[in-house]
Amino acid sequence: MTERDKKVILTMRRNGVSFSAIARTFDLPVGTIKTVCSRGTKPNAEPERFCVNCGAPFQTSEHGREKRFCRRHCYNQWWHDTHDGRKAYHRTCPTCGKVFTVYGNKHQKYCSVACFQAARKAGGRSG
Ligand SMILES: [Zn+2]
Ligand SMILES: [Zn+2]
Repeated sequence: MTERDKKVILTMRRNGVSFSAIARTFDLPVGTIKTVCSRGTKPNAEPERFCVNCGAPFQTSEHGREKRFCRRHCYNQWWHDTHDGRKAYHRTCPTCGKVFTVYGNKHQKYCSVACFQAARKAGGRSG
């Protein structure tokens, strides 16, 4: 796509032509047209965000909530990468009763070393 095409697309948008109509005119996917338009000059547009996972620019009209991913799939993938593919287990600490999350080690029983030691002291003689 040439710079000239982009200008024409932006002009068409400004004149109220729909994305799908422009896409048909240029024989391009609607998504491409949207991307071109989102990168064009847009004084009143929403601030553009970039997906934390794939880096794709996206726009959100959600207010009050920071959206960091362009789609749910990216969130899942990012989460998976960040946590090294380890599974998260939600457990309740038998000492303090706190619900905590452990990654990878499903055998971890206590939320902290302190709780582990407290349990050992309370539980007794073995050890
Ligand atoms: Zn993404
Ligand atoms: Zn605890």
